[in-house]
Amino acid sequence: MTTTTDAPVRPTRASRAQKGSGQWALGYREPLNSNEQVKKDDDALNVRARIENIYAHGGFESIDPVDLRGRFRWWGIYTQRKPGIDGGKTATLEPEQLEDSYFMLRVRIDGGQLDLDQLRTIAELSATYGRDTADLTDRQNIQLHWVRIEDVPTIWNKLEAVGLTTQEACGDCPRVILGSPVAGIAADEIIDGTWAVEEIERRYIGSKEFSNLPRKFKTAISGHPSHDTVPQINDVAFVGVEHPEFGPGFDLWVGGGLSTNPMLAQRLGVWVPLEDVPEVWAGVTGIFRDYGYRRLRTRARLKFLLADWGTQRFRDVLETEYLGRPLPDGPEAPAPQTPGDHVGVHKQQDGRFYVGVALTVGRVSGSLLAKVADVVEQHGSGRVRTTAHQKLLILDLDEHRVEPLITALEGLGLYARPSAWRRNTMACTGIEFCKLAIINTKDRAAELIDELEQRVPELDTPISVNVNGCPNSCARIQTADIGLKGQLVVDESGAQVEGFQVHLGGALGLEAGFGRKLRAHKVTGAALADYIERLARTYLAERNDGEVFAQ
Ligand code: SF4
Repeated sequence: MTTTTDAPVRPTRASRAQKGSGQWALGYREPLNSNEQVKKDDDALNVRARIENIYAHGGFESIDPVDLRGRFRWWGIYTQRKPGIDGGKTATLEPEQLEDSYFMLRVRIDGGQLDLDQLRTIAELSATYGRDTADLTDRQNIQLHWVRIEDVPTIWNKLEAVGLTTQEACGDCPRVILGSPVAGIAADEIIDGTWAVEEIERRYIGSKEFSNLPRKFKTAISGHPSHDTVPQINDVAFVGVEHPEFGPGFDLWVGGGLSTNPMLAQRLGVWVPLEDVPEVWAGVTGIFRDYGYRRLRTRARLKFLLADWGTQRFRDVLETEYLGRPLPDGPEAPAPQTPGDHVGVHKQQDGRFYVGVALTVGRVSGSLLAKVADVVEQHGSGRVRTTAHQKLLILDLDEHRVEPLITALEGLGLYARPSAWRRNTMACTGIEFCKLAIINTKDRAAELIDELEQRVPELDTPISVNVNGCPNSCARIQTADIGLKGQLVVDESGAQVEGFQVHLGGALGLEAGFGRKLRAHKVTGAALADYIERLARTYLAERNDGEVFAQ
C-alpha cells in the first residue's frame, strides 16, 4: 500500500482486528501469549536433544518446566495425572500439583498401518516400560502410560528401528495422518490414498516448515466410501470421489473440529488427484500457519479462520498464494452408506478377507497385543490396522482361516461380532491418567457395556455412546447418538458426584450434525445405565421403519 503523505496511517478497524489475531502473513510476528512465546523461543522439535542429553540422565527433577509442559508434546510426551486426585480438584489445582513424574507416550501410526514386528515392539515397550498399559485411541494411535523420562531414548530407538515414531504425535503441529485402514485392500474402495499418507509423512512430518502452527492440526485421507477417517471433524480431509471426467481422486474438505465451538469441515469444491495431495495438503497447512489466529488458543483452530473467510476466499488464497494455479472443480463425495468401523468379515480385492474386531473402549495391554500378534501370525496374516473407531483389523486372511481366527481372538476379548453396545461405545482416557479429567471414563464405560448387554440385548441397530471425562471432546461427544460429557453433578441427596451432561442425536456420515445439549439432562454415573436403557427402549418402541436414533 502507498500513501501520499508522511502522516502516520491510522490503523483501520480491520487491521486492528488482524493485528489482534496475530496472523503471521499480515506481519504480526510478536508472540501474543505464553504458548506462542515458547514456540518462538526455541523450535519445539529441538527438545529431543535435551531429553537425550540432559533429562534422561538427570531424571524428572532436571526437566525445565517450559519443556515439560510445552515442548515435550512435539515428541508425543505428556505428564500424566497423579493417582488419587479426585475430579473435583481438577479445576482448582495448579498443573504441577496434578501431574505425576511419569508420562504418557503417544506412538503415531499414520494410516493405522502396523506389521507384526511393529505390533510386537509396541507390546514389548508397554510391558517393559509402561506397566503393561496400552490404549488404542480414536485417531489410530497407541498410547503407553507410566513411562519414565530415563527410558524415553531407549523407547525411541526401539520404535525407530521398526519404522515408528512419536514425533509430532501431540503439540501445535501436524498430528497423526488418519488413513483408511483398508486402503489398498478393500474391494469397494474408490481410491487408495496410502501413497499420499506416506509422502506427507516423508516430506513434512518433523520438518520445521510446519512445526510451529497456531494449534494442533488434524489430517484425514481416505478413499473408502464409508468415510472411515471421520473427515468431517478434521482440519483438512481428502475424501475419495470419482470425477466424471478425470476419474478417482479426492474431494477437499477443511475446517472441521470439535471441542468448543464444534464445526463440521466444509468442501472447497475442488477435485485433487492423488499425486497432488501432498502439495495441496502443504498449501492448506501453510494457510493455517500463516493466517491462523495466534492470540487466543480457544480461537486458534483452522475452523475459526474458515468461518471468517468462507470457503470461496479460502480456495482463492490456496490457489493463488500457495499453489500458483487453479484446482479443477470437483463433485461432492458420496455420503457413506455403511459404518466406517470395518467390524466383521469383509472381502478384499485379492479374494482374501479382512476381519475387524471391537475391543472394549480401546483398552488393551502390552501382553494382550503380544498375544494378538501370535494369533495373527498363526492364522497366516502379517498385517494389522488401527482405526479411527478404536478397533483393530487383521488383513490378508485365507477364507478357511477366518472363523478359527475369530474364535481365537474372542478368547482374548476381541470380538468380530460384538453386541451393538460393545461395538459403538467409545471412551477417552479419563481420570486415570488425564490431568484435565473430572471423572473416570474407561472403567465406567466398560461397566456400562456389560450392563446394557444384559438389559437391552435386543438392540439391533447402532446407537453410539461416547464417554468423555471433561468438557473437551477427545471421544467426540458432539457426534455421538448419546454423547456424555463428564462433570460433577448433584445426586438426590444433594451430594456432588461423578456424572454427565448429555448431548443427544449427534452423527457423522449421512446424517452428519451435532447432538443437542439438553440442559436438563444431567445424569449421575450411578444412574447412567438406567438412563440409557430408558432411551434405547423408547427408541425401539417408537421408531418408524428405517428411522435411526439420531433422527
Ligand atoms: Fe482428558 Fe477431557 Fe480429553 Fe478425556 S476429553 S482425554 S478427560 S482432555
